[in-house]
Amino acid sequence: MSKVLIHPASYENAALAVDKAFETFPLELRGRKVLIKPNVLRASEAKEGIVTNPAVLRAVVEKVEGLGAASIIVGDNPGLFDYGTNEASFRKTGLMEASMGHYQNIGDDSVKVPFNAGFLPSVSVSRAVMEADVVISLPKFKTHGLTIITGAIKNSYGILPGAQKATLHKLAGNPARFHEAVVEVFRLRVPDLFIVDAIVGMEGNGPASPELRDIGLILASDNAVAMDAVIAAMMGCQPGGLRFLQKAKELGLGDYDLGAIEVIGELKRLPGFKLPPMSGEALARNDAIQQLIHSRTILRPEADPARCTGCGTCAGHCPADALSMSDGLPKVDTAACIACFCCQEMCPEKAIALR
Ligand code: SF4
Ligand code: SF4
Repeated sequence: MSKVLIHPASYENAALAVDKAFETFPLELRGRKVLIKPNVLRASEAKEGIVTNPAVLRAVVEKVEGLGAASIIVGDNPGLFDYGTNEASFRKTGLMEASMGHYQNIGDDSVKVPFNAGFLPSVSVSRAVMEADVVISLPKFKTHGLTIITGAIKNSYGILPGAQKATLHKLAGNPARFHEAVVEVFRLRVPDLFIVDAIVGMEGNGPASPELRDIGLILASDNAVAMDAVIAAMMGCQPGGLRFLQKAKELGLGDYDLGAIEVIGELKRLPGFKLPPMSGEALARNDAIQQLIHSRTILRPEADPARCTGCGTCAGHCPADALSMSDGLPKVDTAACIACFCCQEMCPEKAIALR
C-alpha cells in the first residue's frame, strides 16, 4: 500500500516537514548522485506561486547535503514560455540562491532514449536526470488547464530540454492524448521521492493563475500516482476521472484509489477550491497558448557558419536524427525535424538560430 504524508508547514519552518518526509520515506543517499528537480515553469517571482518556493528547495538541499550525497544537481527545463532561459529562470525565482551552489543547466546535455512511437520514436532527456542514482521531485500544488492538476507526474515533463514539450503538446492533438504523453515522459525515469510545496497552492486556471491559496502543508510520497490522487482529492476532484492517473494505473505505476493509500496526516478537501474545466479544454481552446505552441513548432534551426566550429554536438544530440554534418556545418532535414530545439540549447558556440 502506498503512503502519502500530509504535514503542516510554513516557508519559515519548511525544514521540519522536509525532515518528516525523509523520515517517512528514507533514502540511502551516502555516496550517491542526487538530482533535485523543482518545478520551474518560467521566470517569475517566488511570490507569484508559479514555481516551487525557494524555501522548500533550500530545505531539501540542506537535508540531502546532510545525508552525505556524493554529488547534488539542482535543475529543471523551464516550460514553453522560457525554454532557453534556464539560468535566468532560476535566478528570478530565487531558486538559484536556494540551490546553494548545486544549480546546473540540465538543458545543456541530454541523452536520446526510445519513446512511445505513437508520439515520437525517441526523445532527448537531460543527461543529469538519466544518470542520477536518486531523483527527488519537488512539484508545486497547482491546477493546470490541460491536465486539471499539476503535481508529481506532471513535474517530470520538465526532464525534456528544449521545445520538445511544445512538440509533444502539438503531436498529442487533444487533452486526453496529452495526458498520455505526460505519463510516457514520467515513466522514462520515475523519481524516487516527491515532496510537494503545498504551503501556498494555486487554484483557478493554472499553471500560471494569479489565484493563490494558503494551504500550509507539505505533502510527500514515494509513489506519484498516490501523491497525485491525494492532491486531486484535496482539490475536490475525483482522481479516477483524470486520464493521466488512469493511464499511470494501467501501466502499473501505482493506484489512485484512496482506499489503497495510507494517508499519514489529515486528508481534507479544500472548501470551494477552484478547478479549471474538467474537460481539460481550458488550454486547448486558449488561442494565445495554441499560437505559442504553433510558433514554437514551425521554426527550424540553422547554423551560423561564422560561429559554428563543426564540433557535431548538435547532430549527436538530435532525437530525430534530423541533423547531419556536411562540409563542417550541420544540415537539417526539415521533414524529419520535430522542432525540439535541443540542438540550439546544446550548441556550445550558440551558433544555431531559428528560422
Ligand atoms: S534538428 Fe530539429 S529535431 Fe534535431 S535537435 Fe534540432 S530542432 Fe530538434
Ligand atoms: S553544436 Fe554548434 S558549433 Fe557544434 S556543429 Fe552544431 S552548430 Fe556547429
